[in-house]
Amino acid sequence: MSGLHWSLSERKIDLKIFGQVISRISDAKKLIICGHIMPDGDCVSSVLSLSIGLQRWGKDARPAIDWPIPHEFDGFPFVETIDSFCEDMVSPDLIVAVDSSSADRLGRFSSFLGEGVPSVVIDHHATNSLFGDTNLVDTSFSSTAQMVLRLLRFMEIEYDQDLALLNYLGIATDTGFFRYSGVDETVFRDAAELVKMGADPAFVAMQILERNRIEDLYLKRDAISNLELCHSGLVAFSYLNEGAFKKYGVKEDEFSGFVNELRAIDSVEIAVFASESKEGIAHVSMRSKTFFDVSFVAKAFGGGGHKNAAGFTMSYGGNLREALEEILSFIGNVLREAQPDNPS
Ligand code: 5GP
Ligand code: MN
Repeated sequence: MSGLHWSLSERKIDLKIFGQVISRISDAKKLIICGHIMPDGDCVSSVLSLSIGLQRWGKDARPAIDWPIPHEFDGFPFVETIDSFCEDMVSPDLIVAVDSSSADRLGRFSSFLGEGVPSVVIDHHATNSLFGDTNLVDTSFSSTAQMVLRLLRFMEIEYDQDLALLNYLGIATDTGFFRYSGVDETVFRDAAELVKMGADPAFVAMQILERNRIEDLYLKRDAISNLELCHSGLVAFSYLNEGAFKKYGVKEDEFSGFVNELRAIDSVEIAVFASESKEGIAHVSMRSKTFFDVSFVAKAFGGGGHKNAAGFTMSYGGNLREALEEILSFIGNVLREAQPDNPS
């Protein structure tokens, strides 16, 4: 490929599947490019980059996410074009699901799959259920956005400043701004390519990391007062009830960074944070620092994710603190099995 400093064979990308993805996209006129509920930076980035890229390739490609877009993405171009219904596209030729490990993560857009609309899945989650007709799933990528970059560049789609910025957003956020394991030379090279094409790293960092509202800090104060350690300090957990979010007028999915702060405690390997969205329903976010696979726990409770970041939604009777006990004891059992030399 002329002009590209990487090759697809550098990753374990299956060229046959890559070709199938491009041919399915070429054959379609009307496409829905769909991300997941509770969208994060990689989701918003992948949905918008792929949609804008394909629009420039002459496609009617609609960015779709069945969820309100969190406020930190307000300042990014084309965010207002993300549609949570796509009512005027009742029979798309293709649905492309990005950054989504299972069909239920697509919210209302999963119904297209049931109706037999052809589908392509582009994702990097180890727990991906391969729910598309064509599945481009590669866990060696730091982010889905990195896969989208390679796809668009392979298709020789032109990048301008806006597209570069949008594509950079997902690589930066899904690597914790280039800190997590899995950040290798290719991440820096791909990010550098986007910076060269006009992405502004300082703008992305400022929008995502430096726009906390005072209400976020008040919530953090409440979450810290619920903070506990268990399993010899290896596990930190906390939670917030629906009332706390209501009190400060913050949506529960807009308080997603706190679990990372729990993990940052020195003794901690595993962090668990539960946010109640309505009475008896909570989203549980989990993070691990090194050896512990939180996606295993998430899967056992009906969710998914990666080794070091995973989550699920649970329903429960009684109070949230009590509901967390079951998860903590499950984690305790896995920890004991992971440390067979531990006499306790
Ligand atoms: P977070 O804790 O930030 O919500 O999510 C961390 C990771 O776990 C992300 O990669 C996300 O896609 C995945 N994840 C979170 N919640 C769920 C869920 O309910 N189901 C599945 N399959 N994955 C989830
Ligand atoms: Mn991702």
